[in-house]
Amino acid sequence: MDELNLRPAARQDRSGVPCLPSSVGLRFNSPSEDGHSLQAEGAALRRQLLEWWERHGRHDIPWKRLPDGRPPAPGEALDPYPVYVAEVMLQQTQLAVVLPYWRRWMERLPVLEALAGADEHDVLLLWQGLGYYARARRLRLGAIQLLEGRAERQSGLWPRTVEGWLALPGIGRSTAGSIVASAFDLPAPILDGNVARVLSRLIAHPGPPKRQQARFWWLSESLLDPQRPRAFNQALMDLGATICTPRRPACGSCPWQDHCAAYAAGDPGRFPVKDTARAVPFQVIGVGVVRDEGGRVLIDQRLPEGLLGGLWEFPGGKQEPGEPIAATIRRELREELAIEVEVGEELITLEHAYSHKRLRFVVHLCRWRSGEPQPLASQQVRWVEPTELASYPFPAANARIIAALQDRIAAG
Ligand code: SF4
Repeated sequence: MDELNLRPAARQDRSGVPCLPSSVGLRFNSPSEDGHSLQAEGAALRRQLLEWWERHGRHDIPWKRLPDGRPPAPGEALDPYPVYVAEVMLQQTQLAVVLPYWRRWMERLPVLEALAGADEHDVLLLWQGLGYYARARRLRLGAIQLLEGRAERQSGLWPRTVEGWLALPGIGRSTAGSIVASAFDLPAPILDGNVARVLSRLIAHPGPPKRQQARFWWLSESLLDPQRPRAFNQALMDLGATICTPRRPACGSCPWQDHCAAYAAGDPGRFPVKDTARAVPFQVIGVGVVRDEGGRVLIDQRLPEGLLGGLWEFPGGKQEPGEPIAATIRRELREELAIEVEVGEELITLEHAYSHKRLRFVVHLCRWRSGEPQPLASQQVRWVEPTELASYPFPAANARIIAALQDRIAAG
């Protein structure tokens, strides 16, 4: 029998959210009311979580260890630079995906000065495939800002407060807290998606956590172990990543099972309660892989702003309603590059989902006919040999276009 079913079935309110029996789980209805319950149970929650983490946590994360591979002692500082890089990479991206990128980054840019002095092109190339490229640009700008502000900073090169880190581009409160706790073992709470999920289940919060950020921050801060903040935050993240997972939380292995209101309600998967899903817009993009008589390929560099700012891509744009895709490509290339092309056969069609939209790229091989390419809607345009494409940073979807082009060239 499923362990969750051993609990009495919870009643449900009109919105379908379970109402808990009054004797079960933590009561966190407001910070003032929650305070009483936390005082009574906080110590047990900390102890149980840390005991679980000592045995089952992820202890091999490289930026959480000293250069000789040892774990730091409580209060012992770590080099903030590897932590800073890792925490920015971890925004929107899972640990397993980040690890190889972080290792490659630390080989090429091992210290803050190397990052600050690096060309943006090389930084974007190192980031290629991680997505959300604004993070890479801001990381580089942050390195420059840290070095420039060193003289005025009392703590030297590295800020030791959440406020100090918040002054850097692309650093929000949770990233700042995670860096301060990880690098210096100072008490700073975190509230990323994993942590919000665990806490919303712990208290069976009846609404989306995003709508009550203050309460969740208060909860994360109140639970934080002031003696071992680095270990506690890591334990909380590890619990969310390995036990209290989004779809099938392993409550039977959870150190907080006895305190968890969502578990007591018998349906932890219902938490966190989600906002009503919005329809994600869908667009078709016509893309031209334009080649000249010598076989060179035309690429352009996006403007610096936005999600993919500064990356290179094959030119193209949105299909208008009722417009044939070949006409879309011809029109876009005329409008954005001032060139005329002959649209040839389809090279590849692929779909790519962002959090806010879904795109279908219909890619055609094109022959350049006339007009000197001009960057009318980009930073610059360039004719390159197909073998040179690998030395330019492209968004993930374009990497598949390059692979299809190389296959087509290899096949003659
Ligand atoms: S008991 Fe289950 S739902 Fe509650 S915190 Fe643990 S894993 Fe998450």
